[in-house]
Amino acid sequence: MRRNSKESITAETALSYRTPLAVTETFTYKGGYEFAVCPRCHISLEREYQAFCDRCGQALDWRKYGR
Ligand SMILES: [Zn+2]
Repeated sequence: MRRNSKESITAETALSYRTPLAVTETFTYKGGYEFAVCPRCHISLEREYQAFCDRCGQALDWRKYGR
């Protein structure tokens, strides 16, 4: 049944990744550059308003994100 670690995630977990999480955190570098932060894995996101996190695949909701 379990062929690799990616397939061991539960259906519930898979669904939660597809349900957008609100992006609310930002991280500011010393130079003043501000990056949005993934609400699941907390890496800085490369582009604003990208639909999914590059690293963890979490769907992102940008409606609460503002400057
Ligand atoms: Zn992420």
